[in-house]
Amino acid sequence: MLFDAALPHRRPAVKSEPGLFSIGTIITAANLPLDNSFASLPPAFYTRLMPTPLPAPYLVGVSAPAAQLIGLTPDDVAASLDILIGNAVPERAQPLAAVYSGHQFGVWAGQLGDGRAILFGDVAGADGPLELQWKGAGLTPYSRMGDGRAVLRSSIREFLCSEAMHALGIPTSRALSVAGSDQGIIRETMETAAVVVRMAPSFVRFGSFEHWYYRKQTDQLKVLADYVIDRFYPALRDAENPYAALLEEVTRRTAHMIAQWQAVGFMHGVMNTDNMSILGLTLDYGPYGFMEAFDANHICNHTDQQGRYSYANQPQIGHWNCYALAQAMLPLIGDVEATQAALDVYQPEFGSKMDELLHAKLGLTMLDEHFEADRTLFDDLFAILPGVDFTLFFRRLSGVRAADAGGDEPLRDLFIDRPAFDAWAERYRDRLRAEASDDVKRAVAMNQTNPKYVLRNYLAQVAIEKAQNKDFSELERLLKVLQRPYDEQPEHEQYAALPPDWASHLEVSCSS
Ligand code: AMP
Ligand code: MG
Repeated sequence: MLFDAALPHRRPAVKSEPGLFSIGTIITAANLPLDNSFASLPPAFYTRLMPTPLPAPYLVGVSAPAAQLIGLTPDDVAASLDILIGNAVPERAQPLAAVYSGHQFGVWAGQLGDGRAILFGDVAGADGPLELQWKGAGLTPYSRMGDGRAVLRSSIREFLCSEAMHALGIPTSRALSVAGSDQGIIRETMETAAVVVRMAPSFVRFGSFEHWYYRKQTDQLKVLADYVIDRFYPALRDAENPYAALLEEVTRRTAHMIAQWQAVGFMHGVMNTDNMSILGLTLDYGPYGFMEAFDANHICNHTDQQGRYSYANQPQIGHWNCYALAQAMLPLIGDVEATQAALDVYQPEFGSKMDELLHAKLGLTMLDEHFEADRTLFDDLFAILPGVDFTLFFRRLSGVRAADAGGDEPLRDLFIDRPAFDAWAERYRDRLRAEASDDVKRAVAMNQTNPKYVLRNYLAQVAIEKAQNKDFSELERLLKVLQRPYDEQPEHEQYAALPPDWASHLEVSCSS
């Protein structure tokens, strides 16, 4: 193979109905029925603090589906600009920055923490509790050398990708809004500040566990694990060893999430253990990218010179990160064998999810008698794919006909080595005929698994440059396109096109 390697409990949706609040109360971002379950942890887990105001804020973007999750309309959100930027605090907010530690690029980095994120509470969302954070709202005790800020460019990138990943069906934190201010922020060049309001059931990371392990504070480690189990994995309470069960479930979710990344060509860019979610969510969008011209060794993060987090390495790094979590949880699990057994689910879970996803991408049914040959077919496909646009290839693959090469042309056009493509396509056709595949039905199914629209770097860049000039229309349009990645959207065909030449010079790095 090319790659080695409990839903949050439901609570009622927010409704502005009499009974839940006093009659006639209208819910806005200002009076959200906030709680803060994380604040119920001992004080050593966080520092309470307020966001630092920014001058003359303006609204950059709102995600309507994200707003809906917490019972707000986009207009409700837009009306609360002071809250979105962190200049005002909702009535029931309990703002805090959490402490955590982590391994960065394979090296123990010691204490980190929310250096520019501030958690201000959680609400009962339509699909369970959701915590809300400002990202970029000022200094915290964990800011280290940083300024506590995020620039407009990286805020837009986080906003767009969070919502795009969700629409692709990949577990992720969500983004409610981006608000900007013209306050200057120094990076490689002078940029301006912005704040994203992001949401997830929890922002607890692998590094949150490592923090207490490396400090040898097993009591706090236990408090954290119990909190995570009780609130997010209640079914595991009944397991023989709930901590081993937690490790196993997190390992499984992580393996599945990374298989989903591979399947759409998503590269995270900074898979440090402090960026790995204990809920198996894609978290902390920085120098991420979507594969364009296929290169298994592609590195999307300019800062990652060794390519530790290249596309091909992601599955193994996911496994490595689960090892780091396992090490941290060992004092709770109490037994090396049980810990190892929990970790050992990674490879089979990743492998079977990847098999499932690749079969779906090729429109093939998983059949025992073809299983080994299918794996060879996939490997041979990735061997001829270098240089070919990943997203366009899989989207156009649905046009292939089982009977003859009559539908091949748009796909074939993507290849320089056309004889290699023809040889592979003949084998693919044989395989389709072996299961009497129906061209029409297969195409419909494949188009629900192979997106037409992904967040290519240049698309984000165009929206960013317009937003930097206070034109937010392109951001709004792009967000809408990405919210329906599997639909044809003929009016937006240009968003599915190959990147222009200038895009090859785009670089994204950790500094944002
Ligand atoms: P990242 O690699 O972006 O996840 O960041 C690693 C750590 O650095 C996290 O603890 C962040 O909160 C912190 N950090 C990143 N950028 C800044 C910044 N501009 N100001 C303060 N802390 C930051
Ligand atoms: Mg981070």
